Formats: sequence, structure tokens, C-alpha cells
Amino acid sequence: MLVPQDGQREKLEKAKITLNDCLACSGCITSAESVLITQQSHEELNRVLRQNKQVSSSEQKVVVVSVSPQSRASLAAHYALSSSEVARRLTGFLKNLGVHHVFDTSFSRSFSLLESQREFLERFRRREVDKKALPMLASACPGWICYAEKTHGDFILPYISTTRSPQQMMGSLVKGYFASQKGVSPQQIYHVTVMPCYDKKLEASRPDFYLSDYETREVDCVITSGEVLKMLEEEKVSLRDVEVAPLDTIFSNICGEELLRHAGSGSGGYLHHIYKHAAQQLFGIEIDELTYKTMKNKDFQEVTLEKDGQVLLRFAAVYGFRNIQNLVQKLKRGKSPYHFVEVMACPSGCLNGGGQLKPSSDQTNKELLQQVEELYHGECASVPEQDSRVAELYQSWFESVGQEKARQLLHTQYHAIEKNTSGLSIKW
Ligand code: SF4
Repeated sequence: MLVPQDGQREKLEKAKITLNDCLACSGCITSAESVLITQQSHEELNRVLRQNKQVSSSEQKVVVVSVSPQSRASLAAHYALSSSEVARRLTGFLKNLGVHHVFDTSFSRSFSLLESQREFLERFRRREVDKKALPMLASACPGWICYAEKTHGDFILPYISTTRSPQQMMGSLVKGYFASQKGVSPQQIYHVTVMPCYDKKLEASRPDFYLSDYETREVDCVITSGEVLKMLEEEKVSLRDVEVAPLDTIFSNICGEELLRHAGSGSGGYLHHIYKHAAQQLFGIEIDELTYKTMKNKDFQEVTLEKDGQVLLRFAAVYGFRNIQNLVQKLKRGKSPYHFVEVMACPSGCLNGGGQLKPSSDQTNKELLQQVEELYHGECASVPEQDSRVAELYQSWFESVGQEKARQLLHTQYHAIEKNTSGLSIKW
């Protein structure tokens, strides 16, 4: 309400903010109620589904929803179901609403893990000639990427892995391979992901993931685990009462009727997979179990591979901005001892993301998180190197590992955001 000098109250128009206006300061985007996000919300998904019902089938959008394993685990804790049970019932719920396909971002994460492993070996081998080849810093967390681009710009960006996150790997697969298999234009597909945080909405709206030839984004809309709960509540259904539906097998990390996860942390297991692969490929050492050493706090852990008293590999998992700031300061002083760091913006990582479901009144945050972690780890672990469908896609779609097409479709780039006197500007 504006009160001018004449004392007459004048009602102001409601302000609208789209993600393109956002400078990724994180402050607003992580507090859901305070922001009107018009393009990326469950209302927008509902609108597309309603519109599909009003047009002929040839004009309809093919609606694809890709669900993250962290969101599955969060919903599983809320409804006291297993993660795979959530997947089957959520598939039933979404298909009843008019969604055509429901995929699993564990599948696309296999590509993120394999590409990260390969990128690490490349960087390790050029570390003597390229002082910024190591430590390689993980790239799957958009909260961390926003912070790095805005706060430490050109200094930090060369250290960040160029491998795409599982969300954007899926974006590339859905709007590329899947569109070609279905014989439709990427624009005809409406691709939604279900994620544990709001920052994934920012990631999806980056110009790097916009297909200008088709005027479409690889991921059109991101909704959080909390928004899925809202959709269920709006339909007045409990996930426990929804009929199960068979899982879509084309892009799901699946064995029979059970979904599979990856070993390691609930944030994707990047440290685990890269460490084991590097130990084997660079030093011929097979690692069964990783031994984590807790440093200053539980969100800062180290793993070290030593031989004859010499450190061969030193990796760390660094979660939460307090630990991230310390890591960046160490890097700036040339005192970082690490070869790889799994960096995640949220304390406790993605299972504790800002878009996950909140604890019930008789539960603490800690109790809920423990439950979500158990449910996430309740799925059996799969090994990306052994997934024959992943290997097949590398051959048939990406024209083999390490080829130009694979680099283009499986990697990305970052942009320093420079401060100037009139505000912020992005160096694209
Ligand atoms: S750590 Fe948090 S902000 Fe980063 S990707 Fe995971 S849930 Fe999102």
C-alpha cells in the first residue's frame, strides 16, 4: 500500500519476479513464500496438463516428469513407504493427472558420475602443466555454482568440473534422444523435474541449457518435493492410497520393480565413485570401502589414499557455506591439499535440501533427516560402469565416450558475474 502526501491510499500492483530477473543471490529463491516464480511451479505443470485436455492429441505436449531419488526418499519418509513404492505410486498419481512418462534421475546421474570420473583422470594427468586442473570441484549443486560465479568469479571457475548435473543430463537425454525416438520436436515435450531444492529451478533456467534452435529449455519446469506434496493435497489424495503403476524403464535406474541408487553420499556419491575409479585407474589399487575422517564438523570429511607413507589421493566432502568459505580461502592461499572436493551448499547435502518435506510436529529435523537417509540408502546400489543401457546410449547417441558430441551434450560452462558500479553483470 502506497500512502502519498495527500493521504489517499493507493493499492500497488502485485510485483512479479521471473527467474530471468534473478541474480542468483540465493536469499530470495530459497525462501519459497516470498517469491512468485511464474514459470517454475506446480501450478504451471497443472496449467500444461489442463491445456492438454482441451486440445487435439496432435497439439498436445508430451509431458515427461523426471523424479530425483532424494525427493523419492523425502516422500517415502512422509508416507511411511519405501522409495521404490513411492516411485510406483507417484508414477500412478502423475499418469492419472495426464503425465505421459515418469523417469528417474538416478539414471541420468550415471552419466554425471562416469563423465566426472573421466574428467578427473584428465585433470589429474595435466596437473603439472595446468595449475588450476586440481582440485576438481564438483558441479552438481547449483547453489554452490551461483555462489562461485557471483563471489569468486574467474578465480574459482576453472576448478569446477564441467560435467553436467543429473538434472541437466536428463534434460539433454529427454529433449535430444527421447524426442528423436518419439519422432517429435524438443519443443513438443514439456519436461518437468522433481528436485530437493529451489536452486535447481535456477539451474534449469540458465541460458546454457536453452535450445535456441527449438526455442525451448531442456528442463521446462522444476518442482520441489514439497510441491509434489502440495499437488497430492490439492487432489485430496494420500500417496498411500494411489494405485501403483509400472515404472517407465527407458530412463530409470531399475532392477525388476525396484529402483537403484548409487553408492556414497545422498548428494550423488561423486566422491565415492571418482575416488574408487581414480585409485584403480591411476594406481592399480582396488578400494572396497572408503574410510572417511571427520574434520572440523560432520559436514567436512576427508578420504586419503596412501602408499608407503606417500599421499596418492586426498579427497574431501565439503557441505554448507561455512565450510565452503573455508575451502575457498584455503584455495586462495594455495593451501588446499585436495585433489577432488564434493561441494554441496546445503548442510548434510541434498537429502536435507530446502525443497524437501518438513518434519511433522512430533519430529525433529534431525530425526527426519536420519529417516530420509535410511530410506535413500535402502535402495540397492548400482555401478554406472556396469549399466548396459548407459553404455549403449554412449555408443548410439553420444557417438562414444570422449567424442565431441558427448562433450557438448554432457558438459557445460560457467560465467563469472562481475560487480560494477551500476550493479552486477554476467560475462557470458
Ligand atoms: S546441496 Fe542443496 S542446493 Fe545443492 S543441489 Fe543439493 S539440495 Fe540443491
